[in-house]
Amino acid sequence: MSTTHADPLGRAGEGEVAKPLPGKIVCNACPVLCNISEGRAGACDRYANLGGVLTRVDPLVLAARVLDERGEMVMFADQEPWDGVLADAPLFVTAVGAGTTYPDYKPAPFIVSSKRDDVDMVTVVTEGIFSYCSFKVKIDTDRHIGSECAAVRCEGEVVGHVTTMEYGSQMLSLGGVRHLTGGSKREGRVTCDVMMNLGNREPVALDVEGGAKLVVQAGEPPVIDGVAEKRMRVGCGSATIGIFAQQWLGHVDEVIVVDDHITGVLTEHQAGRCLDMRPGGIRVVGRKSTPGRYFQVANPGSGWGGTDITDPLKIVKSIDPKEAWPGERVLMVSTTGEDYAFFVLDENLELVPAAIPGEVKKVVDRIGENCEAALCTVLFLGGAGGSLRAGVTENPIALTRSIKDLLVNVTCGGAPAYVWPGGGIMVMTDVTRMPDRSFGWVPTPAIVAPIEFTMRLADYAALGGHMHRVRPLADVIAAERHRVIGWNADNPWPASVVP
Ligand code: SF4
Repeated sequence: MSTTHADPLGRAGEGEVAKPLPGKIVCNACPVLCNISEGRAGACDRYANLGGVLTRVDPLVLAARVLDERGEMVMFADQEPWDGVLADAPLFVTAVGAGTTYPDYKPAPFIVSSKRDDVDMVTVVTEGIFSYCSFKVKIDTDRHIGSECAAVRCEGEVVGHVTTMEYGSQMLSLGGVRHLTGGSKREGRVTCDVMMNLGNREPVALDVEGGAKLVVQAGEPPVIDGVAEKRMRVGCGSATIGIFAQQWLGHVDEVIVVDDHITGVLTEHQAGRCLDMRPGGIRVVGRKSTPGRYFQVANPGSGWGGTDITDPLKIVKSIDPKEAWPGERVLMVSTTGEDYAFFVLDENLELVPAAIPGEVKKVVDRIGENCEAALCTVLFLGGAGGSLRAGVTENPIALTRSIKDLLVNVTCGGAPAYVWPGGGIMVMTDVTRMPDRSFGWVPTPAIVAPIEFTMRLADYAALGGHMHRVRPLADVIAAERHRVIGWNADNPWPASVVP
């Protein structure tokens, strides 16, 4: 069948069989099927025509577990090529730079045998093309970044949404098949860019509809409306009361911890009661949940404790003259200890600002000390339950079952992957544990991510693996262009996890 190429890259249309244009070669590593001229790269920059040979531009990444004389992991500076004692170093063939096979019924690019003590092992290695994948972003902050379900945009395109807030962190769900394929071509492209950059630990600028402007980057503090967040709160207002009540006793008569979710009032709270504290008589606004715990004292915002208030007295509803007394010492503080104010009640039972006593300030500082550094955490969530499995075995359900039976260890660039229970092979990985620049893309659009399946060779044969394509590790090292990086010491060695 002949092919007419209206596409400038000579990509085949639906139902067409790709044949190279004169002087070009066809890349068959993904459905785009680029025609690539000599010395040029295809649309994704991952494959090039070098001397008429289709070549994966980036070398295959091997990770070496080499210990120095103190027993510490050797890391290779700047991940430069390294030709050290490969014969002695346990090496793991990651899928970074491995390439893809398309269509998937072809065996994966590398199926590598190795030894674990006397046990024959195998690792199936491929750069998967993930149409179904997303990134879950945890942003350590109390500040209101936007309402739940609010759209998150990049360059004006919707690329995800704000999802359920967790303890001390705002959460985003970004990318996913609906944004990649269900909107305009531009939405798909921008979404793909955002996902690849997040995975590769680049900063990504986002706008939350009706909320904040964000810059998120894996492993770095979030930047919210231009301000880098420093502290992750110690807990909600009630938890803060519970943690520090004993330390306040005797130094202050009432403490109100301002929090968007649960504002705590010490003497009314169970912690104050257990310590026999005299009721302070200060009532706060909002909805009382249980004694000393109040919801909705203000609106969400960037003020104290994730509320919109900058003047804490705004949440004081009344002062009960039957309980409060002149000279009563009152601390108001946020859940990170960044905001605080000290007051003493005067003869009229008015809250009058006063200098904070040293012992009270010490506890405020301790709140700050107990806050962890605010970070962005980025998890890749990808569905490998589809055709990718055919590159591993001719009977894909056997792979799914073997993973669920824990016979197969799934990693992404050597990083451990959590496999979700239930159907399919849905893996979730912390991108900071993966090698640099692990993620790529193809213009279908979809994300390219490394994935490896490690198991005993006997189990591989039993699940219908492509045994005729198994190659020894030494053969891969000798024959393939590669670079060696140090093994990430935080990651378990993949073969060691297999029973
Ligand atoms: S987009 Fe990349 S992988 Fe796909 S055909 Fe083109 S060069 Fe090959």
